[in-house]
Amino acid sequence: MKIICIGRNYAEHAKELGNEIPENPVIFMKPDTAVLKKGSDFYIPEFSDDIHYELEVVVKISKGGKYIQEENAGKHYEEIGLGIDFTARDVQSKLKEKGLPWELAKGFDGSAVISEFFKKEDFDLKNLHFSLLKNKERVQDGNTSMMLFRPEKIIAFVSQYFTLRTGDLIFTGTPKGVGKVSENDILEAYLEDRKILDLRIQ
Ligand code: MG
Repeated sequence: MKIICIGRNYAEHAKELGNEIPENPVIFMKPDTAVLKKGSDFYIPEFSDDIHYELEVVVKISKGGKYIQEENAGKHYEEIGLGIDFTARDVQSKLKEKGLPWELAKGFDGSAVISEFFKKEDFDLKNLHFSLLKNKERVQDGNTSMMLFRPEKIIAFVSQYFTLRTGDLIFTGTPKGVGKVSENDILEAYLEDRKILDLRIQ
């Protein structure tokens, strides 16, 4: 299973980090060892003093393929959920300065938090609201209508380069409002008005 992630898929988030709006999806990957075990706390790794949460809609590939056309891409995923793309922002900033790949800042153990998955038919994917609370305060409020690249477009784009397989996950990018986590913070993520993630920071 591979985890493909999209950077800068919401204009307001690209701006808050001082990045340009991309012409094509910005792609990076996390290894399968990045997945945080269900029910586990998230431990701040020793190599970072600035771990950020990034709440994202996650798409699960149900049917693999290569060179998937955008108009057929909807047949390649049946379920969606939410995930947190934990990012060592201090590490990432140094890598970005040097023009180096982001994996050390993005792919570390526990950096991919993934909720349960739900049938996509039960939601309006073009107008899906999701939000993150930190210690009961709303810090991120997203809507898929604000995405620069929709899941179908992302699937078509990435499958030109990587064969997609059943079970692969796509983190579709975070809206604005990213921020730092500290020890004892509680993060809660909502898909529409349903809480589907609950996580303690250690
Ligand atoms: Mg992200």
